[in-house]
Amino acid sequence: MDGNAKVPSVPAQRVITAHLMRLWPSHEYVLSNISLPHSEQILGLQNSQRFKACPADPNDTIFGLHFPTPVTDSQVQVDPSLKEKAWHLTWMPLAFLASLRPQRQPTRFTGEIWVIFFCQVLGAPIPLLRAHAVARTQCACQKFVLDQYRDHVLTCKKRTGAIAGHDHVMNVSVQLARNRGLRVRINRKVVTTAPDSNKQGDVQAMEFGIPGYNDLVWDVSLVSDRIGSSMQHGLNDKLQLGDYLKAQARRKIGKFRRDYAAKNIAFAPAILSVAANQRPPEHR
Ligand SMILES: [Zn+2]
Repeated sequence: MDGNAKVPSVPAQRVITAHLMRLWPSHEYVLSNISLPHSEQILGLQNSQRFKACPADPNDTIFGLHFPTPVTDSQVQVDPSLKEKAWHLTWMPLAFLASLRPQRQPTRFTGEIWVIFFCQVLGAPIPLLRAHAVARTQCACQKFVLDQYRDHVLTCKKRTGAIAGHDHVMNVSVQLARNRGLRVRINRKVVTTAPDSNKQGDVQAMEFGIPGYNDLVWDVSLVSDRIGSSMQHGLNDKLQLGDYLKAQARRKIGKFRRDYAAKNIAFAPAILSVAANQRPPEHR
């Protein structure tokens, strides 16, 4: 070790403040561009949320057997003890912050990622995109100009990173299945539906154990809480209305489930929101 090396020490507050203020002039536009609706909506979505673990309609899920039979409100009125039997999921969107460790590669976020995270939480323009928005940079899809709040970037299928994001979520789900001891095929190795429809999901878990089926196939989709790629431009930057995760799940089920069932394969969609990871995944 170099004998003259300085021992690192925590800088005094006035040193930190002086450092921040030196950098501040290039960010002065932020205050005048904070979108309060963005900020309020995102803070709302970050609250801890509680959901029934199983959909009310048993036909909505192929995992129904793994949950107690859902009870209706009128059944609870007759027998209040039934209420305790319902299973719930608690979704805490920011819980991941507690498991961040700078020493662990998967959670060692770069400064750039933190800037995006904080700007998004504050409803502030994202510096990197601000430059593009001012220059009116076209997205790779050639249909939209990049907006400074990231709505289009998160919803565009053509952007760089859309496939990487999808594959990341897919690989995490594969790892979960492998950790459970399942044999798994992915991408092109997944069995297709009958030749006339020839559809292919993302992941196939062999001998999954759902009665009546051999395997389970799932297909991953990333969606955003905010509309960002509508050709009706007035809709962009608005929140998605209704239970759009459920709507997406139904759309996927409509596309795949029957055609896979013909091959004795169960199908489930895996839908994840990416806006700020503020919604529970739909995996049914
Ligand atoms: Zn685009």
